[in-house]
Amino acid sequence: MTIFPRFCGASMPIFLAMNPKNHAALADRVTKAAEAALATQSYVSPVDVLVGIGWLDPGARDRWRQGQVDCLEGVVQSNLPRISEAMKIFRAWAAAKGLLASETIYVARAAQRQALRFSRSGDPTIERLYRTHWISPALLSKKRERLAEKSNRAPELVVIQPLDADWTCHRCGGTGSLLMMENGGPACLRCVGLDDLDFLPAGDASLTRQAKAKSTRYAVVVRFSRSRRRYERQGLLIERQSVDDGRREE
Ligand SMILES: [Zn+2]
Repeated sequence: MTIFPRFCGASMPIFLAMNPKNHAALADRVTKAAEAALATQSYVSPVDVLVGIGWLDPGARDRWRQGQVDCLEGVVQSNLPRISEAMKIFRAWAAAKGLLASETIYVARAAQRQALRFSRSGDPTIERLYRTHWISPALLSKKRERLAEKSNRAPELVVIQPLDADWTCHRCGGTGSLLMMENGGPACLRCVGLDDLDFLPAGDASLTRQAKAKSTRYAVVVRFSRSRRRYERQGLLIERQSVDDGRREE
């Protein structure tokens, strides 16, 4: 018996590459993850699905969002054909549901606000597919606009409280209790121009809100939790005047 010629055709459909049972199991996982994300936020993104099916660790996703990882595919725990298969299943599911495609801007939560990269190849079509969020048509158009606006807004600056105090600023060779991750490595607050801000610890939600609204510049301070494997908010770096004003109005 020769099965060899069957697999030699140049036009062999891609789906033959995955065994049908594996394909069905993957389709089931992708659908469940997408349904869950849609139920909680009324839209689903490829990143939501990758996290939902367990291929993308939330901690790795956060590092990518902070611009510390070259491309998202580099931290996804699966190979490219499997990822592409999952994304195809996801888009077919979204289209069948009648969800609305909405291209979203992804920029790093870092001082340079660089565009985030998804694929190893950097192919514009693949990048666009990753950037596309699928939105529930049940959302009223007003709410949809607000959601799109929120997704496209530049994310907050993030400053890290390092777990290991032994680090060196890649620009000046100094150090400090807080750092900001840049493409070249960690940078001290003086070098990124945030050293004049005051730390406002998290806890007083109304003071935080007031002060944030009054401060022209601020950054979120986070620390990595080893047990929860994600960054957690510690408070804000904010202009001292805005904290004083916020206190007066409380
Ligand atoms: Zn420095």
